[in-house]
Amino acid sequence: MNIAARLRPIVGERNCITDPTELRTYEADGLTGYRVRPAIVVLPASTEEVAACIRLAREAGMPVVPRGSGTGLSGGALPNEGCLVIGLSRMNKILGVDVPNMRMSVQPGVINLAISAHLAPLGYYYAPDPSSQGVCSIGGNVAENSGGAHCLKYGFTTNHVVAVKIVLEDGSVVDVGAEHGDPLGYDLMKAIVGSEGMLGIVTEVVVRILRKPQSTRTLFATFPTTDEAGDAVSQIIAAGIVPAAIEMCDTLAIEAIVAATGVDWPLDVGAVLLMDVDGVEAEAAHTAAEAERIARASGALEIRTPRDAAERDLMWKGRKSAFAAVGRLSPDYYVGDGVVPRRAIGPALREIAELASREGVRVANVFHAGDGNLHPLVLYDARKPGESQRAEHVSGEILRICIRYGGSITGEHGVGHDKAFYMGEMFGEDDLETMNRVRCAFDPERIFNPAKVFPTPRLCGDRPGTYVPHATEKEGVAGRG
Ligand SMILES: Cc1cc2nc3c(=O)[nH]c(=O)nc-3n(C[C@H](O)[C@H](O)[C@H](O)COP(=O)(O)OP(=O)(O)OC[C@H]3O[C@@H](n4cnc5c(N)ncnc54)[C@H](O)[C@@H]3O)c2cc1C
Repeated sequence: MNIAARLRPIVGERNCITDPTELRTYEADGLTGYRVRPAIVVLPASTEEVAACIRLAREAGMPVVPRGSGTGLSGGALPNEGCLVIGLSRMNKILGVDVPNMRMSVQPGVINLAISAHLAPLGYYYAPDPSSQGVCSIGGNVAENSGGAHCLKYGFTTNHVVAVKIVLEDGSVVDVGAEHGDPLGYDLMKAIVGSEGMLGIVTEVVVRILRKPQSTRTLFATFPTTDEAGDAVSQIIAAGIVPAAIEMCDTLAIEAIVAATGVDWPLDVGAVLLMDVDGVEAEAAHTAAEAERIARASGALEIRTPRDAAERDLMWKGRKSAFAAVGRLSPDYYVGDGVVPRRAIGPALREIAELASREGVRVANVFHAGDGNLHPLVLYDARKPGESQRAEHVSGEILRICIRYGGSITGEHGVGHDKAFYMGEMFGEDDLETMNRVRCAFDPERIFNPAKVFPTPRLCGDRPGTYVPHATEKEGVAGRG
């Protein structure tokens, strides 16, 4: 019996997809430049179904690619040839809310924003807020250790996920972390969060929930160039103020945002900063006044505070729609994700602008400035010969700029398929080998998301140095591509 015929009784006829046209839905994630049609997609509804599908895939020697909402921007959910995609979108139930202990349990397909929407009547929320939060899943957030505007003060996903249920490569189900208190032994949660779907499939997530702050003050400030704006960010944080969020957009990004959302942001400035400070009323008022004073001293041209909640929401809508808004300026664009130390924001952006002008491309910048997490959007037109290659080249050079400044090739979008090549530029052989050993402790056969993150196909037990064929290669079970 073929594998699809064996998967159907597990997930149900409708939830086992083999039709080539329907499979096209799953051939890419948010990084649509790469497309591979999977062999089969299953949409299980429970941990048991996920485990049974993994066991069958393993038996059939099929790679397994976990998939949440497919909004990832690094090709993390990009299928491999002949793979089984396990989509978690049907596992979208809220399992429980424990307000006294500030915990909430959810299935992995629950949409990020649905958590806060569910908690809103109780005065609570879930802090990590990727700009894609209206569509991305919590399972995808766990796999990518997703960030967002308000992660500057509150921390990334890793600071808010306390326990998970995960199905391993042999179909066994394990609970990791601790719902309450510190877990005993090694902190495996830190290995799982950010593991990009390479250690197993997360089927339940327990998150920390927070009380909504009593007061939030929003500041919108314009600057002549990104240098002054970058300086303001460094000075504000150096003064001991940790804003809940501090986001920057440059001129090109402002142009796109104004065109797409109708916000009345000035078009003749070099940068805007959008900042939230929060806390109890007196604290928020004091820190907002301090942040405003520092922004002015750093060269702010104009500072606005929203008149009411509706105007504040509009300002944030402007920022959060920025990626999509750039579609107004260019038919295609490549979303970058690198990190530089905060103090290097100004110089790094200048280098990026020089690079862009040398290469004859336009780059819009809209990013989490407080974390130094840049998102250069490299504009191109895929219909014009050579443009997509040039955009890819510029994006790669931008990552090299980040590495040179002592930053990183990813702040929050992960390495996935897209940036695996650059791992070798950021890490030495020993580092990669250590990471590979952690991966192989969970998934020795590399069933999950093979060919992601690591720069070359790397087998469990590989040693750095002179090439020695792996046992599985000698047996003809695996090969080096
Ligand atoms: C417009 C836009 C704005 C964005 N803004 C942000 C932002 O501000 N911050 C940010 O961090 N990201 C952002 N992203 C990127 C993306 O939304 C996040 O990476 C998100 O966490 C992906 O979630 P997903 O459900 O779409 O996962 P997918 O794209 O489906 O998968 C992402 C990775 O997770 C793995 N995976 C998915 N579910 C599971 C599971 N249950 N168990 C194990 N592995 C799993 C996949 O194999 C893949 O490697 C943005 C994307 C877009 C399109």
